[in-house]
Amino acid sequence: MKPHRRIFVTTALPYANGSFHIGHIMEYIQADIWVRSMRMAGHEVHFIGADDAHGAPIMLKAEAEGITPEALVARIAAERPRYLRGFHIAFDNWHSTHSPENTELSQGVYRRLKAAGLIDSKPVEQFFDPAKGMFLADRYIKGTCPSCGAADQYGDACEQCSSVYAPTDLKNPYSTLTGATPVLRTSDHFFFRLSDPRCLAFLRQWIDSGRLQPQVANKAREWLDGEQGLGDWDISRDAPYFGIEIPDAPGKYFYVWLDAPVGYFASLLQYCRRTGLAFEDFTDPARAKAVGTEMVHFIGKDIIYFHTLFWPAMLEFSGYRVPDAINVHGFITVSGEKMSKSRGTGISPLRYLDVGMNPEWLRYYIAAKLNANVEDVDFNPDDFVARVNADLVGKYVNIASRAAPFLTRLFGGRLATPEAIAAAGLGLAVDPVALAAQVEADFESREFGRAIRTVMAHADRVNQYVDQHKPWEIARSIERDPALAADPVARQAALDRLHAVCSECVAAFHLITLLLKPVLPALASAAEGFLQVSELTWADAARRPQAIGEYSHLMTRVEAKHIDALFDLPAAAPAEPAAHTQKKKPAMNDKTPTAAAASATAPAIAAASEAATISIDDFTKVELRVARIVRAEAVEGADKLLRLTLDIGAEAPRNVFAGIKSAYDPARLEGRLTVMVANLAPRKMKFGLSEGMVLAASAEPGSGGPAGIFLLAPDSGATPGMRIK
Ligand SMILES: [Zn+2]
Repeated sequence: MKPHRRIFVTTALPYANGSFHIGHIMEYIQADIWVRSMRMAGHEVHFIGADDAHGAPIMLKAEAEGITPEALVARIAAERPRYLRGFHIAFDNWHSTHSPENTELSQGVYRRLKAAGLIDSKPVEQFFDPAKGMFLADRYIKGTCPSCGAADQYGDACEQCSSVYAPTDLKNPYSTLTGATPVLRTSDHFFFRLSDPRCLAFLRQWIDSGRLQPQVANKAREWLDGEQGLGDWDISRDAPYFGIEIPDAPGKYFYVWLDAPVGYFASLLQYCRRTGLAFEDFTDPARAKAVGTEMVHFIGKDIIYFHTLFWPAMLEFSGYRVPDAINVHGFITVSGEKMSKSRGTGISPLRYLDVGMNPEWLRYYIAAKLNANVEDVDFNPDDFVARVNADLVGKYVNIASRAAPFLTRLFGGRLATPEAIAAAGLGLAVDPVALAAQVEADFESREFGRAIRTVMAHADRVNQYVDQHKPWEIARSIERDPALAADPVARQAALDRLHAVCSECVAAFHLITLLLKPVLPALASAAEGFLQVSELTWADAARRPQAIGEYSHLMTRVEAKHIDALFDLPAAAPAEPAAHTQKKKPAMNDKTPTAAAASATAPAIAAASEAATISIDDFTKVELRVARIVRAEAVEGADKLLRLTLDIGAEAPRNVFAGIKSAYDPARLEGRLTVMVANLAPRKMKFGLSEGMVLAASAEPGSGGPAGIFLLAPDSGATPGMRIK
């Protein structure tokens, strides 16, 4: 019997400026599988999540939508359950960093760090947008590269020549928020003194404590002992800011990364208050040690820095316990294509559910590809279809569907005893307890792919057993062979043989159901009903079902039409030159996981094509921006399309397919300005991802107007990224 463990598990807090994308769902699936497996082992696991609701991007996005940040984060929070329920992700609590609990805890952390002498204040000179009245983070400043002279480069590095510099080095800097020329201003900032010898000594010991994956520990060590060393961490931001006020410092707020991880505790605190659990048992170092609780984080590789250095140091020096494990995973790619966090391309989780795809297909596919290392996982549609159909339907569910009807028809659903099966020499040579222990251990160490391979190797053996003993042939001779009907002894022997073979198959199905239960909770639940057993745990590996109920289909196959529906768009839509003349509404129903604003746009536009007037609110949902056509090129295999690379003042250029080839020579388009819909949900097309639409005019067919397509352009002086309203 293993010792009973009490574990508090978190996933990274998603930023509440947009819907979940497939990367979030992958992380939740990984953590959820782990949590379910630990619970099946009898451990007490509390699975905690929350929205990360603070910071300038949320403040500015809310402002752009004309709503309060609170309203924005509430809207995003309201849509979370649909995704989580949809993919069987069973958090025990979901909260927000914009909450009384988080204010209380974050301010407490700060006060304790200050009392420990680890908070400094010093003046910082920084760019300030005089039109907006706010200090500008580097990403809101652009200008001309001081090294190569390229225009519209970000405040920290040049994308053209890769030089790295300070925003103050830029020539002709401008604020991307207002276009104003920023001015330098000085303000006092608060710093967490990570360079303090106490912090450095603690972090060295923590990194070497074996709680991190080897490659993660190496990375953290590099940061800690690298050339630049660990600098003090600027934890304050000046008003206006959407965040938590710093005690005794009017107009100063915690930088979002200070209060975001504290949000793990805030959600836990809310949960403990709701359930009567003792919060201190999980957070106070002495209590946690005394009662033996563990704290486990699941995160992506993009936030290792914060979680392996800042967060443990914050906890240690504010008197909290530190994490027992930080489980880092890689990113998810789609057909080898990297997805962008900010634009959320790739597979839309909601669309996946909306087109009727089974969430457990995705859970299985991701599990089959995950291991304990920091490696990316690729979603390849063909591989997905092949693997789900071959493994889940072909190998696993088929075992039950091949054996169950005979048991029901000829044996009243009763299974033969293991003794009878053994006596007939028809037992499968497998030790179910050892097999389950091996798979359970792999789930615990997050070697999910290895666990799945072990299970499927066993399923292969069971299917070979079925093929070898051919229950359908035995049944046919029992039911149709006149010679057998005339020989009661031989007939009974055949019946016993059929009973043994089918019972052994159902017992094997029972075992495989148990082994896959962390991954396929809904299917396992249905199978438990069919097998007439109570909720399976790891301890049930040695048990066998006694009887079965009526078999009904447990899982259907993935079909090509599902994948088409997941990725495709109506054929004609991309060739339409202009969004505002387009009346093909199905294209607008695409709910990709970009900003919520993108999906909110869809009904507004669809409605606009029917109604004579729209409200100003409808119009402002459409984010029109000035775009510079950086590159224009023909698309192989597409008669009407040009591929446009558009600079809209954002970090990465946008790729848009526009149906304007008949009217424009690509070479003549490069460098000119046009207008694009910037918040249109990205679409996966045959040729790649289209991330918006450029606007063009054309005469209504039959109106007698001139033929052709006329691309819109702003007056001279406009710059890429300017909002059109
Ligand atoms: Zn440059």
